[in-house]
Amino acid sequence: MTTTTGPIDLTGKFVASRRRPPRHWMDLTPAQRVESVTELGLPAYRAKQISSQWFSRLETDPANWTDLPVAVRQPVVDEFFPTLLVPIREQFADAGLTIKTAWRAFDGAVIESVIMRYPGRTTICISSEAGCGMACPFCATGQGGLQRNLSAGEIVWQVHDAARRLANGELPGGPARVNNIVFMGMGEPMANYRAVLAAVRQIHAPAPDGLGISARGLTISTVGMVPRIKQLIDEDLPVTLALSLHAPDDELRDELVPLNRHFNVAAVLDAAWDYANATRRRVSIEYILIKDINDQAWRADLLAKLLKARGDWGWFHVNLIPLNPTPGSKWTASRRSDEQAFVTHLERAGVPVTVRDTRGREIDGACGQLAARTRP
Ligand code: SF4
Repeated sequence: MTTTTGPIDLTGKFVASRRRPPRHWMDLTPAQRVESVTELGLPAYRAKQISSQWFSRLETDPANWTDLPVAVRQPVVDEFFPTLLVPIREQFADAGLTIKTAWRAFDGAVIESVIMRYPGRTTICISSEAGCGMACPFCATGQGGLQRNLSAGEIVWQVHDAARRLANGELPGGPARVNNIVFMGMGEPMANYRAVLAAVRQIHAPAPDGLGISARGLTISTVGMVPRIKQLIDEDLPVTLALSLHAPDDELRDELVPLNRHFNVAAVLDAAWDYANATRRRVSIEYILIKDINDQAWRADLLAKLLKARGDWGWFHVNLIPLNPTPGSKWTASRRSDEQAFVTHLERAGVPVTVRDTRGREIDGACGQLAARTRP
């Protein structure tokens, strides 16, 4: 298995990270936790006790870690529990059931995450990078470029905080558990592969080593970093892959997703098919509908043809997303009639398709908008 050591540029080359966040308990594997508490002069079993407080009880106040002697709590906190993210702005929509948080990291980088509550389930959309280097022109995050990759701890922090607030009934709608986590906030998750996979393992690991959330509830999105999709196949984790396609032809996709010049439509669809075929998990094909740019019926027909050419067991599902325009952008959402025609053409071709709901539109709902407006 290949491992990455830092961010990746548009050509897939690794580049050095400039500043690293402080190390946190959530950056460590269970074995590293045991090693670390031993180095601190504590018995190895303290590692499980600390993990139980943090991951199982979601208890963040060390004063309540009553199974740990008072004298060791502060050294443990000082060593392993730095504050990684501070909430600096929060917006509520949909009667409080959509909550968007902008966070400030240790170096001033601002990222965001969103909690979306539905009847019987809760989804968290999280960021994997501060900014993004993929430069998709319709995306608020893409306009600011990449600041840096997030650490595994910073990624899991977004989930841990949401899980804790939900469990404690601190959010509108009453107590709940996290069911789904989607890596669809700021950043290209596959460009921060090592930290994202470390985070996935912690989120998935049964308590007390992690949050115990089923990998089937985890979705990793990508604009098409083909080598990383192939690498993910070998991880043997039943996570869902979401391929952000946005256009079925290279001429337009080169413009909408600049990475397409390195990994074109055929290459990314082949890799997505390989993922589906190897994992027997349906891939979600994400397609943002942009008025008069990519929403023509002939593109729906071409999309259906390309998907069905690769396999006929329903290995894909098309998720159409009405564009939430960035302020000042020339891109805007499709007309309802064009959106409906696009759906009809896909359905006629036998393609499973849904149109994503537009949760949080009134709260800078598009990826990166709140963070962009909150940046110092
Ligand atoms: S759409 Fe996704 S990959 Fe493209 S710039 Fe925005 S965050 Fe990055």
